[in-house]
Amino acid sequence: MEFAAFADTAATVEDEPADLEIRTIVADALADAGSDLPTVTRFLLGRVFPAHDSRTLDIGPQLLYEALARAAGQNVSADDVETRLAETGEIGEVAASYEFGGQQGLAAFSAGGTEGLAVADVEDDLRSLAAAEGAGSQETKLDTLFGLFNRCESAEAKYLARLVLSEMRLGVGEGTVRDAIAEAFDVPVEDVQRALQVSNDYGHVATTAREEGASGLADITLTVGRPVQAMLAQTGTVTGALEDWGEAGVEIKYDGARVQVHYDGEAVSLYSRNMEEVTDPLPEVVETVESVVDVPVILDGEVVAVDDDGTPLPFQQVLRRFRRKHDVARAREDVSVRLHAFDCLHADGEDLLDAPLATRHERLASVVDDESVVSTLQVHDDAEAIEAVETDALAGGHEGIMLKQPEAAYTPGKRGQDWRKRKPDVETLDLVVTGAEWGEGRRASLLGTFELSVRAGEAYETIGKVATGITDEQLEELTDLLSPHIRNEDGTAVDIAPAVVFEVGYEEIQTSPTYSSGYALRFPRFVTVREDKEPATADTLERVKRLAGEGGR
Ligand code: AMP
Repeated sequence: MEFAAFADTAATVEDEPADLEIRTIVADALADAGSDLPTVTRFLLGRVFPAHDSRTLDIGPQLLYEALARAAGQNVSADDVETRLAETGEIGEVAASYEFGGQQGLAAFSAGGTEGLAVADVEDDLRSLAAAEGAGSQETKLDTLFGLFNRCESAEAKYLARLVLSEMRLGVGEGTVRDAIAEAFDVPVEDVQRALQVSNDYGHVATTAREEGASGLADITLTVGRPVQAMLAQTGTVTGALEDWGEAGVEIKYDGARVQVHYDGEAVSLYSRNMEEVTDPLPEVVETVESVVDVPVILDGEVVAVDDDGTPLPFQQVLRRFRRKHDVARAREDVSVRLHAFDCLHADGEDLLDAPLATRHERLASVVDDESVVSTLQVHDDAEAIEAVETDALAGGHEGIMLKQPEAAYTPGKRGQDWRKRKPDVETLDLVVTGAEWGEGRRASLLGTFELSVRAGEAYETIGKVATGITDEQLEELTDLLSPHIRNEDGTAVDIAPAVVFEVGYEEIQTSPTYSSGYALRFPRFVTVREDKEPATADTLERVKRLAGEGGR
């Protein structure tokens, strides 16, 4: 395909406001692309390489201005290009405003001379340019770009300039290309979608759809060494998860950076959440994987920075390690990192994306020969057990918990409802402790399960009980604090005079016949003792009513 024909399609797409029409134009272009199909597919998305490929053109704006200026003739300088850019605000318009092709003598740089450009020429040249490195590479890149622009008509230059700076912006999204592939080659869009999730390669998927149809798409599998988009999470509540799923998988939410681990049986490669390769900056993760995994795998996990005692450090520290290109050994001495693997996408030749989480996690535990590397997945059907996991996670210095639907498949790139990060409490209430219960067993001498009340005029009305979010050490302190105010005891039940105020977090306020206020807190959690507050300044029933009316938050 001529690059001029591609530019023509790009211009038509850009002028077309209706999404459906755009899809048809793109589908027609794909159907006509012949042997250039993979390239045209990527170019329409503004990409030279597939998303899983970590190669980049690495061309800064200055280099492009220089190349444009050279191709535009002797009277044009990079400064002129910049001035025009300041006026128009768009590099494509600027490139299209020059006339190229006059630089015959210099055009010897370009293998194709001044003949019309083919899509394949553009791709070849851009790929060779991406490979240029070391001393003189900037000059080589400049020469190559100059050669390309020198062969461009202005309409072509517009899209070449945008492609080079990764600013194609035709209004063609990934969804449009997915639908256009289905339309052009008459295959089900779900099959295209799955193949894209697995391969992250629009060009390859388009070609397979054309040549092998739906069955070919179904045969596209994960490839160890080629990153997959990460499954993402939405915020959610414990109560919501239990209502929706009956039981929830619960894990620590580590405060680090996402990493995808690929081990092909010989070498380890690591990828960030954006699918950039981060193998070199994280040698200790490579060493960990080499020592604990024997079969080819693709694992999903989080890398956390830790201090000498293994206590997690803020996530900025781990980001610094991810970005580190030089002197990695020194960086590693300052901050070491640790892998927590929480999912297994592929193990020993078997793709597991469609397997339920619980099965994938079992595989994870069986392929990783070190428990400390595998995140613990507990499945619970009651909120209290989940609260206990959260209390431990917070006490261990972690960010909180993740809730996962135990039956759900791994859906790459999707921010769906199957993974939820527990929402931090938006509001807290300051509530008066009006009762408690003596504990059992080794906690028999400690008060626990504190009854909470709101202020209603001169009286106090109950609104719930809190038992979680409290460590054993805190229970001892709270027992000392509350014991002097005990009015009455009946078995293990204790009546306490209003004296102490707790700050309590919750997920929701509901109307409830159980408590005298007529409301109940869902998932109440102890935050702290409000030593600065008296019962007379605790939260009121009016405020609770107001919050309940606003949906409890
Ligand atoms: P957020 O970045 O706030 O959207 O939270 C989701 C992120 O939490 C994921 O992308 C992971 O990087 C991270 N994370 C930490 N621990 C886990 C876990 N156990 N399961 C899934 N994601 C986790």
